[in-house]
Amino acid sequence: MGTARDQLARADVVLCSACLFGFDCRYDARDKRKPHVVEALRGKPVVPVCPEMAGELGVPRPPADLFGGAGGAVLDGEARVVTREGRDVTGAFLAGAALALEAARRYGAAVAVLKEGSPSCGSRRVVVDGASTVGMGVAAAALARAGVALISDEDLEQP
Ligand code: SF4
Repeated sequence: MGTARDQLARADVVLCSACLFGFDCRYDARDKRKPHVVEALRGKPVVPVCPEMAGELGVPRPPADLFGGAGGAVLDGEARVVTREGRDVTGAFLAGAALALEAARRYGAAVAVLKEGSPSCGSRRVVVDGASTVGMGVAAAALARAGVALISDEDLEQP
């Protein structure tokens, strides 16, 4: 396995949460550009993906939260994603996760760098039922189940 940077060094193509690369695709129409992520990926072919935009949720959009379980439970039909306005967007999150996985397969990305904490992209920490919990977002869980190695943006903070 090695460190996150070792994994990146071996990867031919890397999927990356689009907001980390500077795309204004967050729910609030802002980016979450992380210069250390951009620097770590310098010279690599990168596939930027925003699962929530891919799921046609649009920008801006109401923030959404996980209820009943983390991303894996959503994939299994045992949990839901609901906006703070009360709209069930589980289907959109599932569609976005499927498209993120399709992009990884199409471009041969065996590694993904994902934005920590997101209900889609979180790879080790998400909010479930209002509390921060160990777990993955919906797209992260779909990628992990398909064998894509996940790297949190937080793993790249140290040089
Ligand atoms: Fe970033 Fe992922 Fe949220 Fe899109 S779904 S804004 S890529 S964290």
